[in-house]
Amino acid sequence: MSTAGGARTIKIPLTDNDLPMPDTRPRLLSTPLLSLRDWIFPERCRLCAAPGAALCADCFGELPRLTATRCPICARPQADNSPCGACQRQAPGFAAVYTPFAYAAPLDGAIQAWKFGGRLDWTLALAEAWLSAWQQPPALPQALVPVPLHRKRLRERGFNQAALLARCWGRAWDIPVRLAARRQRDTAHQVGLRAEQRRHNLRDAFRIHGPLPEQVAIVDDVFTTGTTASVLAETLRAAGCRHVDVWVLARAL
Ligand SMILES: [Zn+2]
Ligand SMILES: [Zn+2]
Repeated sequence: MSTAGGARTIKIPLTDNDLPMPDTRPRLLSTPLLSLRDWIFPERCRLCAAPGAALCADCFGELPRLTATRCPICARPQADNSPCGACQRQAPGFAAVYTPFAYAAPLDGAIQAWKFGGRLDWTLALAEAWLSAWQQPPALPQALVPVPLHRKRLRERGFNQAALLARCWGRAWDIPVRLAARRQRDTAHQVGLRAEQRRHNLRDAFRIHGPLPEQVAIVDDVFTTGTTASVLAETLRAAGCRHVDVWVLARAL
């Protein structure tokens, strides 16, 4: 919002710095003291409408988890903890993918409503579910780098979901968020492309601005083929980062 000339105009966010930022005080999965507002308009679970929290404990427990044994690099479920065939054939640019969740019902529907349905009220519920699901937190990087959206897509959607997650997670664990990656080209149409075509499509897609620490984690909402994360990780390493992890809300199976 700006008030230039006395008239209130709605500014369309064009950069990650203009993103709407929700209140990230930890309260959704804890038991808050009831304020008058909460008493009159109780928070309701986004999945089952039970009063009390944006995501109730039962629904939190139903979120699909990845198996305990998985590829140590891309988190693909594996019978043992050895690297999967894909990672053995071509090592990704990142060191490891961190997420407790599989991209499956009901989490997939929630992420789609959040991302494509403009349901920003899901931001905190999803970010805090991720934080709460770790029995042992992942190794903490020195900075979080959200996967950038191209300006055109950011204008269409109005927010970058990866940047919102990074802000919530960075605030919770005291890690700086660096909006250091920019998308130079609109490379959204990856569906249906083979792995090599996807990589080719993303060649030179990202540019890194400013110095970064040696250990960073890329943040994104869903890890699907991993091509985007791998190409961004390679770009970050070419820019001087030595260790690049990937933090995502959920991993597609
Ligand atoms: Zn519920
Ligand atoms: Zn793997």
